Amino acid sequence: MYDLELERVAKEVESRRARFVLVQAPDGLKQFLKDLYKRLSNEGVNVFLSADPCYGACDLAENEAILIKADLLINIGHFKFNDKKEKISTIYVPAKHLFNLNFILEKIVDFLKMKGIKRVGLVAGAQHQAYLQELGRKLEKNGIKPVVDKATGGLILGCRYTAAKNVERAVDAVVYLGGGDFHALGIALTLEKAVYIADPYRNEVRDIEKLKKKILAKRWWSIAEAAKAKTFGIVLVTKSGQFNKEAAMHIKSGLEKLGKEVILIIANDVNWERIAAFPFIEAFIVSGCPRIALDQEVFDKPVLNEEDAYNLLGGERVNQLKK
Ligand code: SF4
Repeated sequence: MYDLELERVAKEVESRRARFVLVQAPDGLKQFLKDLYKRLSNEGVNVFLSADPCYGACDLAENEAILIKADLLINIGHFKFNDKKEKISTIYVPAKHLFNLNFILEKIVDFLKMKGIKRVGLVAGAQHQAYLQELGRKLEKNGIKPVVDKATGGLILGCRYTAAKNVERAVDAVVYLGGGDFHALGIALTLEKAVYIADPYRNEVRDIEKLKKKILAKRWWSIAEAAKAKTFGIVLVTKSGQFNKEAAMHIKSGLEKLGKEVILIIANDVNWERIAAFPFIEAFIVSGCPRIALDQEVFDKPVLNEEDAYNLLGGERVNQLKK
């Protein structure tokens, strides 16, 4: 179960006198929206539930909200992603996962002791951040020193891994409290230290190292293959927090200086099916979510993210471009 903060949301809707509201949530949380829908509808509010995927607070359904003339957009499952002002009034509901930490505590303690970890960094996403202090206290009682970054409260915000970076030097390993591999893998790719997932859904603790190695190998293969390509597609993603025309144009200019042909593409949802429609392009660079290039299993041509593109171009060339 998740805490969708029905009372807080209803108060926000009421105080803004919102008559039309758009609610968006990641696919995994859509099944829990019925009570929120009913709570607001009973107040006479016209509620629309977005059926589109929602990958983060970088992916606000602002255009749809504007189309239906919504007074308010409710983003479930995330905190605000960046300082940019939203095009439409937006509230964020992190959707705290309601579970008993004690069920997984013993597994975390046993796992960390087995690995010889004495000091551990604790991080979590929006659904589990609220448990980090409690987890820290319980680990300490079991002889493991917890470190939670004060600046961020241990919150991993989308692909911002500051909470883990800030504690990396002070710990032997980092534990990500939460489900899935997505965030833990992102953290592992930016840290030198080991990253473990304490997964309250599967009630298990696991190591992400094997997956990290697989992704890194794919990443270097993509960069090496892309270096041989003559024609590149740069894909500009139109999602609100991912749109970065400046970066796309920097990379275009860098590739052209290397004698490559560049074709600009624009899309909202990027996956292999979408970009495979351009068979004349030999390699793609996605300027947007860095994980599109890393997580898709089926790309059979090299697909790079911005960071990989800068690796391909070489630091010097990129710096020159930015002058
Ligand atoms: S990883 Fe991708 S989807 Fe997640 S916050 Fe970053 S840009 Fe958005």
